[in-house]
Formats: sequence, C-alpha cells, structure tokens
Amino acid sequence: MSTKDFLEKDYYKTLGVTKGASADEIKKSYRKLARKYHPDANKGDSKSEERFKEISEAYNVLSDEKRRKEYDEARSLFGAGGVRMPGSAGPAGGGGYGFDLGDLFGANSGNAGGRLGDLLGGVFGGGGRTTTQARPRRGADVETEASLSFGDAIDGATVSLRLAGEGPCKECAGTGAKAGTVPRVCPTCEGTGQGSRNLGSFAFSEPCKTCRGRGLVVDDPCPACSGSGRAMSTRTIQARIPAGVGDGQRIKLKGKGAPGERGGPPGDLYVRVHVASHPVFGRSGHNLTVTVPVTFPEATLGAEIKVPSHRGMPVSVRIPAGTPSGRTFRVRGKGVRRSDATVGDLLVTVNVQVPHDLDDKAKAALETFRDATAGPDPREEVLRKAKA
Ligand SMILES: [Zn+2]
Ligand SMILES: [Zn+2]
Repeated sequence: MSTKDFLEKDYYKTLGVTKGASADEIKKSYRKLARKYHPDANKGDSKSEERFKEISEAYNVLSDEKRRKEYDEARSLFGAGGVRMPGSAGPAGGGGYGFDLGDLFGANSGNAGGRLGDLLGGVFGGGGRTTTQARPRRGADVETEASLSFGDAIDGATVSLRLAGEGPCKECAGTGAKAGTVPRVCPTCEGTGQGSRNLGSFAFSEPCKTCRGRGLVVDDPCPACSGSGRAMSTRTIQARIPAGVGDGQRIKLKGKGAPGERGGPPGDLYVRVHVASHPVFGRSGHNLTVTVPVTFPEATLGAEIKVPSHRGMPVSVRIPAGTPSGRTFRVRGKGVRRSDATVGDLLVTVNVQVPHDLDDKAKAALETFRDATAGPDPREEVLRKAKA
C-alpha cells in the first residue's frame, strides 16, 4: 500500500462506515461484509473475491490505529475523496496482510480458522502467484454447423468438422519466442511473475511489470504471433452425430471445444445440424412420414398396398374399404431411432387419385356405378347448414 493507494481508495466507504466510526463499528461492519463476500460462500465469483480483498485491505488499515491515522492524514493532506491517478496499480493481491482470523469468526472457531487460513493462502497468494492469469483455464465453447443427408440424420453419422479457434502458435509452440530462441526467466522477478514494492511498514505485491506476471521474457519475439504465443488456427475433428437428429437441432459434444490452457479442461462443441430434405420421406419428430397415392377402387373397396420404408423392404399397409383421401395409417417401429433405443413410426397418408382420361369402357362402367349409387344430393347438409 502506498500513499497513492491511500488517496485512491476510500476505505471508509469500502467498509460502509463513516469517517468518525469507532473501532467497534469498523470491526462489526467488516465482519458482516467479510462473511457476505467470503470466497467460501461465493465460489468462483471473481467479483466477490475482489470485493473480499478490498474489504480486507480496508480493514487492515482502519483496524490499526496508527495506520488509520496515517491514512486520514494522507487524505487530508493530498485531497481526500478519491483522486484518480493515472496508471493505477493492479489489484493488490500480495501476501503481507496481517490477517486476524479471530476477527472474522470469533474466538471459538479453531477449525474454521484453519480452513480459512488455507483459503486465504489461495486468495492472497500465500507467497506464490496471485494473478488470475496463472490459473488453469477451461477452453472456450465452440459453435459450428454440420449438414447431413436425410438418411444420415436418421441413422447417425461421423462427420468432419473444420473448427477455427485460438490456440498455441505453431511457429513457436506457444512460447512466443522466435524459432531457435527460447524465452528466458524474467530477471526482474526471477520467474515468480510478481513484483514487490517495499513501502514503509509492509511490502506490497503486484504482477511484475517487466514480464506482466508471466515470469518469462522474450528477447526475439516470434514473427507469427508477435510474441503472444497464441494464434488462430483451424483444426479438423471427427464428430459422431447421434442417430435421430432433426433439422435445426443443436448437439453438444462434450470436451470437443477449444483446448484448455495450463492444464484446464477443454470446452464443449455445439453443432447446429442442418438436415437435407428427402424426395419421398418427411420427418415429424421421430416419426417418418410418407404420402402415397391410392386408386379410387382401392380406397372404396379396400386393398393391401405396399409402401416404401427407410432403408428397408417396402412394407404392407391394409387400406380398409371406404378409406377417405388424406387418412393416415401408422406402421409401428418403421420410423427414427430415439436415444433411448425405441423407434418411432412410419405415418402413411393416402391420397386418393381421381381417374381421368377414361376410355369408353371405363366411362361406361363409371356411369353404371353412378346410376347404381344414385341418392340424395351429397351437398344437401352443407347447403342447409349454410342458411342457418
Ligand atoms: Zn518478471
Ligand atoms: Zn509464435
């Protein structure tokens, strides 16, 4: 902590107390906030962690009578109320905080204290690295698209997917150093990635300015990645698309996304599937649909007809006598396989063909049929209802 920190940071505001607050008030408010923002209660929430650090920093100063006085004096001398300085230091995350565990959990919580001690070792670095850059990072999720034929969507298929993404630079294998050279250990921080400043009573750590916390410096940057060690690349992966996917469906392939960094797990790959249409079959969820023509005598007298099935022999469907056009028949188990291994149905819709271009014999037969079935006007009911 420096005079600059003293000027930039309003510790009273951080702890939610007034400038004239008593030591007790400060302690009370601190305990309340520390519990609320404690990393144990906010796992993985970096904002809470940051806040927790700020609260701790503020409390370290304000709970110490001598330092509180220095702080008050510095602010009254140089202009209190938060003068923002250019190039403000990064988050203060170094070791060196005199942390009183008893303050946080009370005297009779030895266990919690021990655990908290470990935890603070993590939060404040415990003498090691403190920057978030040094942690393993999960690879990014990647989104892509795949086009499948109608049949492959039903049966499942292995497809090649080209994925573009950021990964280690191939030229320098991610080191950022020009081919034939290697990065060297940062002379400023001796590879720890941390710089420290000794300011009066205690030391304050921050990411090393020479190497930006990396611990290594590159003398001859790799021309391909300008020393960053990262590059855009495309890779081709083989992905198994499960049987039964539908057009527009988004499939998650776990662990097939961008590779993780520093030992972190890879991200996931999401594939948006486009399914081509078929000249004969359609899809309705896990049912296959097909429309077949039937003749007027077949629909009227009944018939056993053959209909196509997907990748199999034609199947027989019984059309009962008096089947109207547009009726749908279900053939069980001839549809699309579901993930639970059950199979959908084939839905067969009949389309009754109206005879045309009749020869004399057929025409005479139909006239005989007309005379034999003569009855009341079939539109009688419709006409009557229309008037009502
Ligand atoms: Zn360094
Ligand atoms: Zn490179």
